[in-house]
Amino acid sequence: MNKPENVTLAGGKLQVPAFPIIPFIAGDGIGPEIWLAAKKVFDQAVTKVYGNSRKVIWQELLAGEVAFKETGQWLPEKTINSLKQHLVAIKGPLTTPIGQGHRSLNVALRQELDLFACVRPVAYFPGVPSPVKFPEKVAMTVFRENTEDIYAGIDFAAGTTGATELLELLTQQHQLAKVRFPKSSAFAIKPVSKEGSIRLVKAAIQYAIDYHLPRVTLVHKGNIMKQTEGSFKKWGYQAAAFFGNQVFTSEEFTKIKLKKGLAAANEAQTEAIREKKIFVNDLIADNFFQQSLLHPEKFSVIATLNLNGDYISDALAAQVGGIGISPGANINYQSRQAIFEATHGTAPEFAGKNKLNPTSLILSGVMMFEYLGWQPVADLIRSVVKQALFKQHVTIDFARQLPTAVELSTSDFADYLVTLM
Ligand code: NAD
Repeated sequence: MNKPENVTLAGGKLQVPAFPIIPFIAGDGIGPEIWLAAKKVFDQAVTKVYGNSRKVIWQELLAGEVAFKETGQWLPEKTINSLKQHLVAIKGPLTTPIGQGHRSLNVALRQELDLFACVRPVAYFPGVPSPVKFPEKVAMTVFRENTEDIYAGIDFAAGTTGATELLELLTQQHQLAKVRFPKSSAFAIKPVSKEGSIRLVKAAIQYAIDYHLPRVTLVHKGNIMKQTEGSFKKWGYQAAAFFGNQVFTSEEFTKIKLKKGLAAANEAQTEAIREKKIFVNDLIADNFFQQSLLHPEKFSVIATLNLNGDYISDALAAQVGGIGISPGANINYQSRQAIFEATHGTAPEFAGKNKLNPTSLILSGVMMFEYLGWQPVADLIRSVVKQALFKQHVTIDFARQLPTAVELSTSDFADYLVTLM
């Protein structure tokens, strides 16, 4: 029977019916046009692979400007409840409402649904213009903690009661001397928890195991922020310990080195690589930035806190063609709740022009189909994207950097992908 049904969870595993109801939020700005392009590609790929035996039943949810116009709310309760009920969803970019007290709708969604991991795979597609010499060496997946850190939104403007009370606390704690201009300082709080860090790093290591990736690197600024970023590193290694002999850590390496010397430590590491163990190490964030440019091949999975992850994922994306083709997902690996989304914003100056690149959302859909277990659909879409980029049939963002490219509009790019299926 072709009955639309919800995706559910049983025994910790997603149960995906043949006709799953998947909510989507088209988004603001260029959102609706890239969504239409992506949906066309998704539907065609599902039909190509499964004929009439499977089909996604898309269900539109309101959020952002449309929601505000229709309901007076930027993120209606109904939307949140539907996302909770359906487990897996996909969205375009949303405008951050301007004005006092307005939080980013994306941050609100991530916190409301406790989507603790922002997962961003970064890989090079041949043919794409890149500012670096060897973009093909970049193949990393960033696991960015999504619910804590300075993004918690605990901000106190200078001179407010909150800032004054915080100053009183700092005085009691004998910390006031560390604040250069106390009376005119604004403050933000950076919560980083043991549970939050451990669940993120565990998810990153499990991903490395599942995808047979050799290394997980904890990126932090623990040399300066010892109690937050430093603890993330400490708890990250504790998370690695849960995996027993499936991992080999740089802490183990150091212990062997101190006890038995460098040669023994190197030998233990070589043996671990031979046994296909995941190597877990850590790096200070500034060092990571330069290493990821100079030696990107040294990295495969990155686990990091929220703000570092924001910078890192865009910096890595730039190496392989930019945010127009960078997919992302926000996932809670315990509840299995997930929202897949384009990583760029609403690009309002291009809205309605049918010009920009829908690939970020299309590849986010590839991640979604993988997550749902519809691997052949994911493989088909990735393969046609790869072919189109290689043949340089591209949207304006790439066409203006490639003199021989065929420039396509957003909708024509989707049509072209369909012709390649
Ligand atoms: P933006 O990502 O919307 O645009 C910056 C520039 O990136 C654009 O001018 C364009 O040159 C390029 N770009 C963006 N999307 C592209 C695409 N699909 N193809 C090719 N090039 C593309 O960033 P912004 O201008 O800083 O933000 C605009 C709005 O988007 C703000 O309200 C912001 O809060 C919101 N935003 C939302 C999300 C999200 O929903 N996840 C993420 C970032 C920003």
